[in-house]
Amino acid sequence: MRAELLRIVPDESRVSEVGSVLEQHGADLSYHAPHLPDAVVYPVSTDEVRAIVAYANESRVPVVPFGAGTSLEGHVIPLRGGISLDLTRMNRVLAVRPADLTATVQPGVTRSQLEATAGPHGLWFPVDPGADATLGGMAATNASGTTTVRYGGMRAHVLALEVVLADGTVVRTGTRAVKTSAGYDLTGLFVGSEGTLGVITELTVRLRPIPDEVVVARASFPSVESACRAAAAIMGAGVLVTRCELLDAVTIGALNAYRGTSFPESPYLFIETSGDVEAVRELAVDEGATAFESETDPAARTRMWDARHNALHASLALAPGAKAMTTDVAVPFSELAAAMEHARSLLDASGLRGGIVGHVGDGNFHVAFLLDPSDGESVARAEALNAAVVEDALARGGTCTGEHGIGHGKLAYLAGEHGDLVPLYRGIKELFDPKGILNPGKVVP
Ligand SMILES: Cc1cc2nc3c(=O)[nH]c(=O)nc-3n(C[C@H](O)[C@H](O)[C@H](O)COP(=O)(O)OP(=O)(O)OC[C@H]3O[C@@H](n4cnc5c(N)ncnc54)[C@H](O)[C@@H]3O)c2cc1C
Repeated sequence: MRAELLRIVPDESRVSEVGSVLEQHGADLSYHAPHLPDAVVYPVSTDEVRAIVAYANESRVPVVPFGAGTSLEGHVIPLRGGISLDLTRMNRVLAVRPADLTATVQPGVTRSQLEATAGPHGLWFPVDPGADATLGGMAATNASGTTTVRYGGMRAHVLALEVVLADGTVVRTGTRAVKTSAGYDLTGLFVGSEGTLGVITELTVRLRPIPDEVVVARASFPSVESACRAAAAIMGAGVLVTRCELLDAVTIGALNAYRGTSFPESPYLFIETSGDVEAVRELAVDEGATAFESETDPAARTRMWDARHNALHASLALAPGAKAMTTDVAVPFSELAAAMEHARSLLDASGLRGGIVGHVGDGNFHVAFLLDPSDGESVARAEALNAAVVEDALARGGTCTGEHGIGHGKLAYLAGEHGDLVPLYRGIKELFDPKGILNPGKVVP
């Protein structure tokens, strides 16, 4: 295989079988058991991706696309070995078109890189999953994040794709127009397909004007449930909210330790609005907010969102060596407070260590457990709790994953949520990847 790969990628530094490189591509931040690829290859062009995938298809070698490796359900773990296709060296912003509010990028461009390029044009890319992920990985997981409540997630932002199919054919979906009704929505199908249907080699995405006036508010509450009720009231009142995030007392304590902040250790809502902050304050107080502060200073705003983005790393720092298991359910607004109350009581009763954070403006929340993956008993208890949280969310009309995706950690939950669709999913997978070489063992139960 190495000889074949070097024929396609004639550069020893871009075909690696070094142990540490294989390890980096055989695991993620989650508790899922690692599995090494046989080789890691770093293509620099669509043509190289095409030739690598065509060779792998011919030889029935698995290919697992790899972006920043920040996904959380074992997505990038090469369960059956093969090639980890690391796209981070395809990292050029190919065009920024201020007049069209679009950009075209290679898949290894990171979110912060695109933001730095778009910023001087007064534009930004609002999908912000908290980790500095690649645009290819974000499209492949249909990522969303803190600003999705206002702008939507990846599917709302990807206009066009270049994709290498399993047999090496290169196809282009979508156009540079912001809408289309032409045929089946294959752009929308590749978005969220987690590397199982094709390798994304180019993306055209929407950009947004940077908003002028933004206020960030911080409100503390006596309980997670009262914070949730406030979030639902703020959303229901139609205030122009650009972010609405909840952090529980455990997470606030972890952040204080990790970032040297000194927030009182109680549940918080962090809310960003370009609307009426006074209305936000009144609604928060009505639901029992015990403190409410707002800031317009950009540096203070950045500090606050920086704290939010560090929530998972701060929690992991509480238990060095621990790995994370995160639930990711989303429910209708009207069910959010009850669903979180249920999850919190399960967590309290379990004796496990964990915090709760939520993109509550989207009805999406995470219980994050800190686990020693070699401690089978704790992992089993956390899995049981995860299953109970998912079962409850489905009964409330919600979904097992609001944003992280299925990977291989949530396969059983997908079957529980959409069992009747699984034959259709299988048919789609077989149509695009008849030999099953693309990220095998993921998404399709
Ligand atoms: C601290 C932290 C916070 C997070 N918060 C959020 C959040 O708020 N919202 C959210 O949505 N996610 C969140 N995540 C999860 C993660 O950041 C997202 O899933 C992200 O979109 C993954 O991007 P990546 O570049 O790291 O992709 P990777 O992890 O490298 O890959 C993810 C999947 O996409 C496939 N893939 C990668 N590149 C390509 C490509 N070019 N073509 C085809 N398939 C490809 C891979 O095979 C894999 O299945 C968080 C993760 C961390 C660590």
